[in-house]
Amino acid sequence: GYQRVLEENRKLYNQVQDLKGSIRVYCRVRPFLPGQPNSVSTVDRLDEGSITINSAAKYGKDGRKSFTFNKVFGPSATQEEVFADTQPLIRSALDGYNVCIFAYGQTGSGKTHTMTGPKELTQESVGVNYRALSDLFLISEQRKETISYEISVQMIEIYNEQVRDLLVTDGLNKRYPFERKFTLEIRNSSQNGVNVPEANLVPVSSTSDVIKLMNLGQKNRAVGATSMNDRSSRSHSCLTVHVQGRELASGTTLRGSMHLVDLAGSERVDKSEVVGDRLKEAQHINKSLSALGDVISSLSQKNSHVPYRNSKLTQLLQDSLGGQAKTLMFVHISPEPDAVGETISTLKFAERVSTVELGAARINKDNSDVKELKEQIANLKAALARKE
Ligand code: ADP
Ligand code: MG
Repeated sequence: GYQRVLEENRKLYNQVQDLKGSIRVYCRVRPFLPGQPNSVSTVDRLDEGSITINSAAKYGKDGRKSFTFNKVFGPSATQEEVFADTQPLIRSALDGYNVCIFAYGQTGSGKTHTMTGPKELTQESVGVNYRALSDLFLISEQRKETISYEISVQMIEIYNEQVRDLLVTDGLNKRYPFERKFTLEIRNSSQNGVNVPEANLVPVSSTSDVIKLMNLGQKNRAVGATSMNDRSSRSHSCLTVHVQGRELASGTTLRGSMHLVDLAGSERVDKSEVVGDRLKEAQHINKSLSALGDVISSLSQKNSHVPYRNSKLTQLLQDSLGGQAKTLMFVHISPEPDAVGETISTLKFAERVSTVELGAARINKDNSDVKELKEQIANLKAALARKE
């Protein structure tokens, strides 16, 4: 009875969400890690689309809070299962859509695990980034009789409000061979949307290309002025995949893109506890994450002015938040009672994100080749007519 009504409601809710084209939100709960002291998870119960947190530890005995999302993955969900529900979105990049997937959550909650995988990568443990690209290669191969695809990638990080190229080695980076700390500009043009034209754009055609580039990117992400601390938890990294397809019969060009973003840890860094470089980092992270929060709030309230320009992160994601993209957020939580405060605020943020409506997703199709050929034909005909 009741369970079925709930189930029906949820289906309806998801359908409506699809129609409206809201930002989709998938929640993933990290398992307890080997070697951690035994404790009881703060997750009271979860099913396919909802999760209940027992926050009694922090809020007293009636501290249960429930949240509904498009999908909830429990601690035993595999990388393959998580990817299976992401695949349709990823494939639409090949149809000319802009796709954005971003990972949100406090440090240690599993963002990098979902997007990239654990430190030792195996066939089973690789994350969304790698699976997405191998899927794009597979489908583009299947379509090669009708569409010829070119796939290329960029990888950047935003650290202390500076955009840096992660795909740099002295050999690979031909444009700026000696400058590793080059600060790049984020541009926004009506033709190309938001982009970082100065970042190296590397064509890829096989999964081994991708592994090499991802290793390079991860290595560069870890290097920094304050390498003592885990830098990756305080920078946002973004792998952008550009897809260009030419329909062989019509000459039409499709341009799709995919942003795969691993955000800095969402926990508020207490500024009173840090000094020097750590303080500067903390201020920048707090700033960019509150800018993200402000953008989400103003989108969910349908304000006419959305403050995208307040941080590099929101500038970069402008097309994907409230634009005509297909956007998915993975929200990550840790099961430890210690983390319950962050867990609740993370889930509240995610709930707000799920109310943000996107414009109808748009295909980037361009008939310029055909137009050009038609013009040439018209000109030739006119020239012939003049001669006759
Ligand atoms: P974050 O990027 O959010 O800081 P990580 O992805 O680095 O967090 O995860 C922290 C630790 O937990 C890592 O050792 C990671 O391998 C492990 N971990 C995270 N999610 C899972 C999961 N779903 N299954 C197994 N281990 C996980
Ligand atoms: Mg990480």
